[in-house]
Amino acid sequence: MKRDRRQTLANLLAVGLGGATLGAPGRARAEGMRMATISGDEHFMRMALAEAAEADLPFGAVIVGDGKVLARGRNLGKTTNDPTAHGEMVAIRRFVAERPASELKGTTLYTSGEPCPMCMGAIVWCGIGRVVFAASIDELATKIGQIMLTSRAVADAAPFASIALTGGVLSAEALALFSK
Ligand SMILES: [Zn+2]
Repeated sequence: MKRDRRQTLANLLAVGLGGATLGAPGRARAEGMRMATISGDEHFMRMALAEAAEADLPFGAVIVGDGKVLARGRNLGKTTNDPTAHGEMVAIRRFVAERPASELKGTTLYTSGEPCPMCMGAIVWCGIGRVVFAASIDELATKIGQIMLTSRAVADAAPFASIALTGGVLSAEALALFSK
């Protein structure tokens, strides 16, 4: 019994060491891929969520181009006495305050909540190439009033624009901000 256990332990160790030795390059590659995924959408979504956590209403956004954050925004409706100061609008306004609007073309906007029709309209007019959102309008509507029109519906109504949409990235964390 004792011996069997020792043998099992020895086998486990051998497997572990063997794996570490033989599998190191493969594991490094796998780790690199995992990091690439995390450093992609989730990485930037966490920044949008951090903005949302500081906002008047828990909505935040970041605009990213060439892997760099170019502008950040959070809902400032109350602070600025401006009901249009949604996270996405604030990020866009900050972007164009510092850079030519033409540089918005092809950027990616990360937002903690699916863009409302106002923000999605602005995103279309700005030529933003991709939108990644956390909570969907359906999910947000369980927390706060929403205009029940999806960002996809707005994008599809603008045949001149081509916008890639990705939803559901860290949506549970975005929704949890409403409970704080
Ligand atoms: Zn909006």
